[in-house]
Amino acid sequence: MFKAVIFDRDGTLNKFTQNRYVLTLEEFQLFSEVKSTLASLSKTKRIGIVTNQRCIGLGLVDWSSVYAMHRLLSEEIELELKDFPILVCPHLENSCNCRKPKGANLIRMARILDVKVSESIYVGDSYSDFLAAREVGMRFIHIERISSNLSYEFDFEKNICIIYSLEELLRL
Ligand SMILES: [Zn+2]
Repeated sequence: MFKAVIFDRDGTLNKFTQNRYVLTLEEFQLFSEVKSTLASLSKTKRIGIVTNQRCIGLGLVDWSSVYAMHRLLSEEIELELKDFPILVCPHLENSCNCRKPKGANLIRMARILDVKVSESIYVGDSYSDFLAAREVGMRFIHIERISSNLSYEFDFEKNICIIYSLEELLRL
């Protein structure tokens, strides 16, 4: 029985082009099913986000802009940010222990949500999301988006659940 669903952000909840950062509120465009799905899901599960935002470390965007995006998202699904925690790794590669594909922020998020890792699912669109979940032994669900990268690598992995819309999570 799963108690928590943790989401990647870019490419999973909002539209994303590989290697093009989401820097402004205007660029933060949710996929169409996100609002209703997260609102429904949050009634029976804890939900949160674990995201890499190297663009902060690179100085391309500041925290206040990132917070503004997250405030917008929490308002869209009518949840207070305290009930919808978001962990952001702002660091550059190889400078921290929280940037995916490392799994530290998934462990942290499970703790924040007060659930066990084994009671949590991580939902993401990229191979590094999968690796982060695997590192900490969290179940992973791959959301296949047009922007998904390296999805062919999943062909080599068994037991990967692939979904094409987040709405499918409501059947968990
Ligand atoms: Zn980090």
